[in-house]
Amino acid sequence: MFACTGYAAQSADAPLAPFSFERRDPGPEDVRIEILYCGICHSDIHTARSEWGPARYPVVPGHEIVGRVSAVGSAVSGFKVGDLAGVGCMVDSCRSCASCRAGLEQYCETGFTGTYNGADKKTPGVQTFGGYAKAIVVDQGFVLRVPENLELAAVAPLLCAGITTFSPLRHWKVGPGQTVGIVGLGGLGHMGLKLAHAMGAEVTLFTTSPGKTDDARRLGADHVVLSKEPDAMAAQAGRFDFILDCVAAKHDIEAYLRLLKRDGTLVQVGAPPEPLSLNVFSLILARRTFAGSLIGGIAETQEMLDFCAEHGIVCDIELIQPDQINHAYERVIANDVKYRFVIDMNALAA
Ligand code: NAP
Ligand code: ZN
Ligand code: ZN
Repeated sequence: MFACTGYAAQSADAPLAPFSFERRDPGPEDVRIEILYCGICHSDIHTARSEWGPARYPVVPGHEIVGRVSAVGSAVSGFKVGDLAGVGCMVDSCRSCASCRAGLEQYCETGFTGTYNGADKKTPGVQTFGGYAKAIVVDQGFVLRVPENLELAAVAPLLCAGITTFSPLRHWKVGPGQTVGIVGLGGLGHMGLKLAHAMGAEVTLFTTSPGKTDDARRLGADHVVLSKEPDAMAAQAGRFDFILDCVAAKHDIEAYLRLLKRDGTLVQVGAPPEPLSLNVFSLILARRTFAGSLIGGIAETQEMLDFCAEHGIVCDIELIQPDQINHAYERVIANDVKYRFVIDMNALAA
């Protein structure tokens, strides 16, 4: 074991504070990474505050991690000391169920091991701690290669916001000639815009924030619709092949189902703690599909990073110091983030 420092929430209503803990030394298959940057995902807030159900405290959040490899186990082949490396939302899975064998570890039938708030398979009885920390040790099968040609701090949020939007866009084969809607311009939504645009679709952003219109166009939207304006929404009825809903709070999904064409699909990636309701006739009358999607598998995450390297895509970020995490959480909740906070973990005292 080695000593590590980070930031943790000790309870659902406690602010995050400096925290010292121990990590396992790298085993034969492990990679140790000195964390340089870690993004703040809205899921970190849902978890730290037990909004999705009781969390295991202390919670060290963070699953948008980039850093440099500082040690590798004897059986590690893909990484060497000094390499850039990334870690997303998963650090392990069963590796033998049908989903894992299909490269869809996020749907592991026994549950993947979350980067934080999970049960570490390699150290029974120990919980996982995430990327708001100086270092992390992860099995090589769950470590990503990070392209050298992109701005490193702005790459970090690709590990969750990037893959969570890339995976459904790919799965539902979004491309040229299709009309795509992205709902909510936050961390996920802004990546949804960039990626759908790069894949060649005609993209419309739906936002509750009039002040985000210009940014949305810069980020790849062909059209912007203010979702609180009933006439503007009515004008979009039946126009869309595919809509990706990235909203973190309770909202009216009926309003978006109506905008789908016959056979269109609305995919929910935003995960509000409260149930959403729908009238089945919104589906039945036009054979529409309402679906969900969870992050992406490890191979697909690598594919997404390589796609971003090829297209020069990174996140739009605001870099903060570790002692600004609590303030950043308040700003995310107040819908005041453009469009991802990234913590400079290098600035954390050892
Ligand atoms: P975020 O940065 O806070 O963005 C959420 C956006 O939703 C806001 O920017 C806002 O966009 C919109 N919004 C907020 N409150 C709203 C309300 N009351 N009504 C309508 N729109 C509202 O959050 P994020 O990090 O992108 O995460 C979004 C959600 O996805 C979270 O629930 C997160 O847990 C979840 N998530 C899911 C997965 C997955 O695998 N499925 C992965 C990562 C995250 P506008 O200002 O444009 O309206
Ligand atoms: Zn996330
Ligand atoms: Zn599995």
